[in-house]
Amino acid sequence: MKKGCGKYTPVSGTAELRAAAAAELNAAHGTKHAAENIIVSVGAKHSLFNLFMALLDDGDEVVIPSPCWVSYPEIVAMAGGKPVLVDTVPDDGYQLHYEPLARAVTKKTRVIVLNSPCNPTGAVYDMNSMQAVARVMRENPELLVVTDDIYRRLVYDMAWLSLCKVAPDVAERVILVDGVSKTYAMTGWRIGFTAGPVALVKAMDTLQGQSTTNPAAVAQAAAVAALTGPQESVAAMHAEFDKRRRAMVDGLRAIPKVKLHEPRGAFYCFPDLRAYVGGKCKDDLALAEHILEKGRVAVVPGSGFFAPGFVRLSYATSMANVQEGVKRIGEALAQL
Ligand code: PLP
Repeated sequence: MKKGCGKYTPVSGTAELRAAAAAELNAAHGTKHAAENIIVSVGAKHSLFNLFMALLDDGDEVVIPSPCWVSYPEIVAMAGGKPVLVDTVPDDGYQLHYEPLARAVTKKTRVIVLNSPCNPTGAVYDMNSMQAVARVMRENPELLVVTDDIYRRLVYDMAWLSLCKVAPDVAERVILVDGVSKTYAMTGWRIGFTAGPVALVKAMDTLQGQSTTNPAAVAQAAAVAALTGPQESVAAMHAEFDKRRRAMVDGLRAIPKVKLHEPRGAFYCFPDLRAYVGGKCKDDLALAEHILEKGRVAVVPGSGFFAPGFVRLSYATSMANVQEGVKRIGEALAQL
């Protein structure tokens, strides 16, 4: 066992991991975070939980582009905040626009959450989206942005953009959440990290110190190895995911009446199956049950992501499963 892995570490994480995370985030975002700007938590979800607990006062509003990962509104609500969803649409690749964002921001808005690539849509924000967010931040000098960049390394056919690089003048108000779960297929190790102002990191440390204490020492050592070791596996996984993505997109688009915005990141497809809702299946929950029962394929109903009539599929599985799964979904839908 690596020396020290059997013992407590500092609550915010080992010096090695905080330094490795700072280096990784600085390279991606052009920031100048030091180790003291980083707190390591038990997965990125835990990072977000501690972050919103530390950040929000009762009644603070948090603007979240929707469809979104179900945990954002839930965590915000648990922390006493009020989630405010801003709709995005498949037609333009779920991009952000200035007017709807500006309208959603009130005196009570504390944070805008960005998740690019997005779970569940696979959307990746383009330059216009980033500029829209930066403009809203400039007009609201107290406003913070939390970027959940957990799928940052899984982007296909377009560039991933960092808000901090696009708009360095607002970078001090951008809090970064990231981790090793997706990039290194280390979901079970439970390591995520947050980069932000030292005062915020200290508040999160206080919270973490009375709940989980440090994330598991051995998992932290593994995360250092992932971040600082050879990176070939990242490119290899990226190439493989891209093949599966294409296979899933082609397969879904070949099914009559299925609409799909091509996902540009993460490892999800989010087809619009509204054409199949209304008859035998009254909503996407019933549709997901039908696909499970008749096709033996598990899909996640879109309602959970605030997109009724859609379902989420993951291609973080073998190519054989992707092909067989899509074929079965087509057969199940053909029975409706
Ligand atoms: N953020 C998003 C958008 C996710 O989809 C997930 C996991 O599904 C997480 C964060 C959580 O990551 P972790 O497993 O590191 O807690």
